[in-house]
Amino acid sequence: MQTPPDRDVRLLEAPDIVLVGSGIMSATLGVMLKRLDPRLRIQVVEATKDLASEASDGWNNAGTGHAGLCEMSYTPSRDPDGRVPIGRALRIFEQFEQSKQFWGSATADGLVGAPSDFIHAVPHVCFVKGAENVDFLRARHAAMAEHYFFGGMTFTTDASTIHQRAPLVMEGREPGPVAATTGDGTEVDYGLLARRLCGWLAEQEQCGIVAGWKVTRLQRGAGEWHLSLRCSASGEERQQRTKFVFVGAGGGSLPLLQSTGLAEVEGLGGFPIGGQWLVCDAPSICARHDSKVYGLTPPSSPSLGAGHLDVRRLNGQRQLLFGPFASWTTRFLKQGHWSDLPLSIHGGNLGALLQTAARNLPLVKYLITQGLKSMAHRMEAVREFYPNARVEDWRLVQAGVRVQAIKRADRGKLSFSTEVFSSADRSIAAMLGASPGASVAVNIALEVVQNCLPQLLGCSEGLERMKRMIPTFDQDLKQPASVPLFEKTHREAAERLQLHPSA
Ligand SMILES: Cc1cc2nc3c(=O)[nH]c(=O)nc-3n(C[C@H](O)[C@H](O)[C@H](O)COP(=O)(O)OP(=O)(O)OC[C@H]3O[C@@H](n4cnc5c(N)ncnc54)[C@H](O)[C@@H]3O)c2cc1C
Repeated sequence: MQTPPDRDVRLLEAPDIVLVGSGIMSATLGVMLKRLDPRLRIQVVEATKDLASEASDGWNNAGTGHAGLCEMSYTPSRDPDGRVPIGRALRIFEQFEQSKQFWGSATADGLVGAPSDFIHAVPHVCFVKGAENVDFLRARHAAMAEHYFFGGMTFTTDASTIHQRAPLVMEGREPGPVAATTGDGTEVDYGLLARRLCGWLAEQEQCGIVAGWKVTRLQRGAGEWHLSLRCSASGEERQQRTKFVFVGAGGGSLPLLQSTGLAEVEGLGGFPIGGQWLVCDAPSICARHDSKVYGLTPPSSPSLGAGHLDVRRLNGQRQLLFGPFASWTTRFLKQGHWSDLPLSIHGGNLGALLQTAARNLPLVKYLITQGLKSMAHRMEAVREFYPNARVEDWRLVQAGVRVQAIKRADRGKLSFSTEVFSSADRSIAAMLGASPGASVAVNIALEVVQNCLPQLLGCSEGLERMKRMIPTFDQDLKQPASVPLFEKTHREAAERLQLHPSA
């Protein structure tokens, strides 16, 4: 979690672009921009002393390479004819393909070191019990297996087959109908990857990264943005000017957007949701689980509530994580302040926030009660996935915070999705929202370039460079005509990232 060498701890004079925050979003956009146009002068400003230590850090998220394989919340309902619509799963799969292409190209060009440090092939498993749920999973699999993205996904109702794939899930389980699907997925250490990307950026000419400096305000000047910066250690204040700002500040994005006074931000609010994991370090248990096993979202909890039992490899160690348990918080960042939420509320967004709270009372109740749950209650949730789990093998750790964007136009509805905000004049963009998050950082960076900095793609050289990073960036991989391209780029990315699915 170290900052890059001292030479890079510097503030550039009027850089072309300022990226606020050093998480996976800014790191990805910074590298994409510098590779598109090596002359660009790029500044990264990070508030904490370590880079990517908020939501992107390995311990603060689940590390799932979201590709629609195991997340049943992306295929939640059935049509009246019984079919499960899979449009969202297809979109996320395609976006994750772009991520793998980008990381594969960064690996091939020596930007990020050994891929096995930050990405691993891990089976993505959906596990359900009870006749009705088995029926749903069968229908979901039938719909997905029709598309070549998910052609390799298997479905079984055979308990011994599931036992072979995930022994902990089946041992000690009461007899009854069960089913599982398995697809070739990944686990990603987004924090390490972000630090590697920032490390490369810091070594480039005309790029600067400062850590321990917080952007406290963004003000519009004549054709440029004025940033106020404060050093956390010394309290020193500085100003910086730039033509384009990307606010990749995670939970810190909303207060910064609010400081702009832009009309587009009027009515925008944020709703923070904390997270917690149960972690098991016992080597003899961890060695027996080698997949990410996702369940159905219980009807009592909102769409972010699906639990999963995951193998994780963080800091070279193998662990089991179960969660996330959602919790009530008023902080927008793990290292934020309790006053973050109250200070973000004003006349312009109060109505939208109240409407959201009123329409989502079960969610508010769920968050408050989740945070108060005892260890015994949490273990009950673990045992839904791992019936023989013993309390003494598990410890509770805090995960990151997600800040769900709330807009007047949504009329109180929460979408839990990830979205890109950009101002009407395209001089500032920001990443807002929760899921699928880090997995689609590359697609988000691409969207920022296409929307706000299209001139970088306006010449054959720019297009060629983007194609080198994301060969399918201007193609619809979902269309049958794209099968040969999909197969080629999928194979190439897997080879570059050394993703060898287990048998
Ligand atoms: C519990 C949980 C589980 C998740 N699981 C997954 C998963 O399995 N897969 C997945 O793809 N995604 C997952 N996500 C989402 C994912 O973690 C985030 O979408 C992603 O990490 C966001 O990256 P970011 O760069 O926008 O934000 P962050 O990583 O939070 O980075 C923002 C940075 O900005 C800095 N900053 C904030 N304010 C300022 C300021 N004013 N000035 C300067 N710097 C500032 C912060 O210190 C921080 O370093 C999960 C999230 C949570 C909370």
